[in-house]
This record gives sequence, C-alpha cells and structure tokens, in this order.
Amino acid sequence: MNSSNLDLIFCSGNKHKTFEMQSLMPPWLQVKSMQEIGFNEEIIEDGSTFVDNALIKARHVGRKIGLPVFSDDSGLVVEALNGDPGIYSARYAGPNASSAENVRKLLAVLHGESNRLAYFICVIVLIYNGKELVFEGRVHGEIAHEVAGVGGFGYDPVFVPFGYEKTFAELDSAVKNNISHRAIAVRKMVQWLESNLL
Ligand code: IMP
Repeated sequence: MNSSNLDLIFCSGNKHKTFEMQSLMPPWLQVKSMQEIGFNEEIIEDGSTFVDNALIKARHVGRKIGLPVFSDDSGLVVEALNGDPGIYSARYAGPNASSAENVRKLLAVLHGESNRLAYFICVIVLIYNGKELVFEGRVHGEIAHEVAGVGGFGYDPVFVPFGYEKTFAELDSAVKNNISHRAIAVRKMVQWLESNLL
C-alpha cells in the first residue's frame, strides 16, 4: 500500500465529528463512517479516561471488521470544575441530554465563577497493521458567559479559544479546523501514517 489510497474507518456514530474528521484529512486519506460500512452497533464507552474510551471503540470495531480503523474520544475539561465535564461531556446534563442542555448546565454551574479556563481534548487511537497508536491534541481557552454562534457542535457556542474573541461556533470552520484539539491530534496521526505506510 502507498500513501495514495488509504481508507480508514472512523469508529464514531457522531455525524458532526465524522464530518470534521473528513475535512481535516489530506486528499490521499479517505475517512469512511461506520454507517457507510453498515456497522450500526452501539458501543458502550465505560472507560475511566479518554484513552480508555478511544481504545474501547477502536478495538471493538477493529476486531469485527479487520480493516485499519481509528476512533476519537474527546471532551471539555474545565479547570474550576476539577476537570468536569471531562469524559462525561456528551451526557453532562443527563444520559440523553442535547448539546443545548449540556451547555445550559455548564453555564449554570459556572455562574459567578471568575475562573473560566478550559480546554478541549481529543485522543485518537489508530489501529493499523497490528499496531495500536495513541495521539492527543488540546486547545486551550475560556468559557464565555453566554452562548454565541451557530456553527460547530457540542460546547462550541461557549468556548473561546485563546487568541480569539469569538466562540468556536462564531469562528469560520476553517479557523476551528486549523487550531482545534481534533486538528492537532489528526495532524499527529497523519504524520505517523506518512512515515510508516508500507
Ligand atoms: P464523545 O463522542 O464521547 O467523544 O463525546 C464528545 C463530546 O465532547 C461531544 O458530544 C461534545 O459535547 C464534546 N466535544 C468534543 N469535541 C468538541 C468540539 O470540537 N466542539 C464542541 N464540543 C465538543
């Protein structure tokens, strides 16, 4: 195989994350969603760290389909909340909470708090050619006092990255795709693939 034709299955049912992943990849690397390959099983993410959860997803799908796969586990880590919502970011306001509900809870919990420091983290696990690789990206910033913007997903309407005065949901998607936790982790994975492709 050379770097002109690599298909990688992304182990996630999250359409927004899949779309972001596809737009972050170089042209020689095609990201296929689980839907595209007809894999609809729900995977229970019951690990206690981002790495554990990413490993659970990639191993589960990799074992079943036997093709190169990668997963990501990501979330928002807020300093004043001792790291919450962390690995529970997707279900901060309850098991089936919407992003709007999670954001509302975050703003309520942080009401009156002057320390708004937070970061997004993305851990990618790649299973390729019998190897398991872990790549991590972080983007630091602050939690705004109110929601702003309609782009992105999840906590984007309240996250203002350092160096900017707008939330991820207000900034152009090209800006987010350049500086985000996911972009950083993806760049590390792509660099590894570029140097290790057979
Ligand atoms: P996961 O699917 O278990 O990795 O959950 C990730 C959750 O973290 C998402 O549902 C969002 O709530 C949050 N999250 C992760 N990355 C982002 C991002 O780029 N923007 C906004 N929220 C994010």
